[in-house]
Amino acid sequence: MKVAQLGSGTPEIAVVAGVHGDEPCGVRAVERLLDERPAVKRPVKLIVANEKALERQVRFVDEDLNRAFPGDPDAKTHEAELASELVNELDDCLAFSMHSTQSHAEPFAIVNEITERATELCPQLPVAAMVETSMFAEGRLFSAAQTIEVECGLQGTETAAENADRLTRAFLTAVGALPGDTVQRDLPVFRLTDVIQKEQADTYEVFVDNFTKVPAGDPFAAADGETQIADEAFYPILMSSNGYEDVFGYTAEKLDILTTQPIAD
Ligand SMILES: [Zn+2]
Repeated sequence: MKVAQLGSGTPEIAVVAGVHGDEPCGVRAVERLLDERPAVKRPVKLIVANEKALERQVRFVDEDLNRAFPGDPDAKTHEAELASELVNELDDCLAFSMHSTQSHAEPFAIVNEITERATELCPQLPVAAMVETSMFAEGRLFSAAQTIEVECGLQGTETAAENADRLTRAFLTAVGALPGDTVQRDLPVFRLTDVIQKEQADTYEVFVDNFTKVPAGDPFAAADGETQIADEAFYPILMSSNGYEDVFGYTAEKLDILTTQPIAD
């Protein structure tokens, strides 16, 4: 794990990249900050988490780091040990953790709970939605440390790396570490409600778009040509034909739209 800092003092905010070794976008954003070393108004911790997996360009070495929290310093797997190290490193920090997907090109934010802090910060990020995943938080970083996750775009693309850079700067501006103003935008909020399992098959198809409502009775995916039909209406999130080994993605409900309000002094 690589740990660096911008500014002096004890950081209360941290930018975390490389939780998954096959998602290099966040690492590029962190490296750029380390190259440019912008003057910060409050100290920022910069972390590249799973260097071993990044080197091998694999999601993980022994197990998924984002399912291994809080971890254990004496654990037998690389990721469980790393999870414990990362939790110690983050201590009381608010972490901004960057990911990328095979399911959706447009950035969105993922939070464990719709806290005041999340509703204040996420509309200031260049994201299309905020997704609350509290029912599926087990083992994830935000079960062990205060975290805003962002999906920066499609895995391995130049656009995802550029998005990661823009997202990081917007986050650091929103928390007052970088000077300037952010752009506030209206933000739809979704809550994950269920996992969409996928059977072992040779070919997988997905017929629907993420964040777009699937009406009850509509086909949404198929495994080896066997079509799955929506029992009830839902919003698909993180849905892709080949993103995860055993799930297509998640169903979600739409909760609300955070609307832009003038900020009171
Ligand atoms: Zn990831």
